[in-house]
Amino acid sequence: MNAPANIASAKTEAAAVLGRLGVDRALWTGGPRAVRSPVTGEIIADVHDTPLAAVAQTIETAHEAFRAWRNVPAPRRGELIRLFGEELRAAKADLAAVVTLEAGKITSEALGEVQEMIDICDFAVGLSRQLYGLTIATERPDHRMMETWHPLGVVGIISAFNFPVAVWCWNSALALVCGDPCVWKPSEKTPLTALATQAVFERALARFGDAPKGLSAVILGGREVGEALVDHPKVPLVSATGSTAMGRAVGPRLAQRFARALLELGGNNAAIIAPTADLDLALRGVAFAAMGTAGQRCTTLRRLFVHESIYDGFVGALKAAYASVPVGDPRQAGVLVGPLIDAASFDGMQKSLADARAAGGQVQGGERVEMGEEAFYVRPAIVEMPGQTDVVKRETFAPILYVMKYRDIEEAIALQNDVPQGLSSSIFTNDMREAELFISARGSDCGIANVNIGPSGAEIGGAFGGEKETGGGRESGSDAWKAYMRRATNTLNYGKTLPLAQGVSFEI
Ligand code: NAD
Repeated sequence: MNAPANIASAKTEAAAVLGRLGVDRALWTGGPRAVRSPVTGEIIADVHDTPLAAVAQTIETAHEAFRAWRNVPAPRRGELIRLFGEELRAAKADLAAVVTLEAGKITSEALGEVQEMIDICDFAVGLSRQLYGLTIATERPDHRMMETWHPLGVVGIISAFNFPVAVWCWNSALALVCGDPCVWKPSEKTPLTALATQAVFERALARFGDAPKGLSAVILGGREVGEALVDHPKVPLVSATGSTAMGRAVGPRLAQRFARALLELGGNNAAIIAPTADLDLALRGVAFAAMGTAGQRCTTLRRLFVHESIYDGFVGALKAAYASVPVGDPRQAGVLVGPLIDAASFDGMQKSLADARAAGGQVQGGERVEMGEEAFYVRPAIVEMPGQTDVVKRETFAPILYVMKYRDIEEAIALQNDVPQGLSSSIFTNDMREAELFISARGSDCGIANVNIGPSGAEIGGAFGGEKETGGGRESGSDAWKAYMRRATNTLNYGKTLPLAQGVSFEI
């Protein structure tokens, strides 16, 4: 269908921006899989799924690339990522425009996503000179013991629609400096951002000069294409980002063949607003974390525990912010909440709101905002709940914030932890004891625990990921690079005798 008259055509814009980015038209036209922009509901491209035989061939080619790339010194591998970072800087606005058209992010957030790619490239360039292991004291005279980190092999990357490019880059920038080629299966909802990213990457490859063929490849399709990547014996690591249901399917398949799994799955993130909190700061932190990206971040704030002494004032102010937040075309300045990704997402949100009402929840918001038949915009919903019922404990990937009262901090932390997911969490407090308790061993059980900032919007410098049903993986900064390499322990004897460890005697 056509876009409503007052909305610029996403299809026309997509064609122009893909052209500027140098994406071969044959890749996004004439195929059987329609790509719909959530912005206008138009079909903006028709892509081709990668046949399963071609998936296998792509992995074989990547494996051949691995045999050459592992011999290239890591700082030289870093040079490729430095060039890629330069190309991303040049393409930033165009690539962000594709993110907006395909994932529906407001322009500022789409630019932020590409900036995140640039940031991780910078990080990876530095890392390419710091892939070091330990030297370890040995119990034997004239011996030396150390560990060496070696490239692992082809890394499979499966990504979700909501971070269509940054998540790939968290993985690939690190994997490539670690010596590993990458094969990327993006979400079937966002193939264009992947094709556009590949075009930008190929510009860096051309400047680099002598990289092996197939160092980074994109394969398109749905679950079956993902499964082909997951099951291939020449892929020793699969980094998979998406729903917990996807992780439940992928994890055991990888375990079956003893491959590594790096799982980044669903979240159900909470914040605690304590009596001493700076309430203006907390209000802004909550508003961004709960309504940003139309509630479609893995780290989106979904559960809010407010101390009973400040509940009425704080929740009243929050409801006012919900009532006035601008919802609309994410390309327009001033809009803060763009569309949901598709009809299924809208239906899922309505179902959860019905469940919340049935459980005694008081709902404000959640109505559809008409922007075209196939475009699904909603007003973000804030729901006061009598307690943490089943609907609150599951992740609904839409802008619903469940709000609950608490009396003491131990109770609030117990509630925050009492869900199957364990991605991100935060507390707003100026009480040092509460802040320290929250980030202590008996505090938040999440992979991310923040104080006086919301649970979303992580920087690349820290390791990113979560516990429990979030999957346990860690990506991005800190020492997350170790997942992309294999560790060898080396013991060297420079003496003239052969002492055995643990004093064992074996004379022949
Ligand atoms: P999804 O699970 O529907 O799809 C994610 C990817 O997995 C897609 O590429 C899909 O094709 C693929 N896939 C699905 N089933 C598969 C299978 N059996 N084998 C191989 N591949 C398979 O998720 P989505 O709707 O695109 O994204 C939203 C979800 O992702 C939310 O739950 C969100 O919390 C989560 N997410 C998590 C993180 C994180 O870092 N923890 C980041 C972003 C999104």
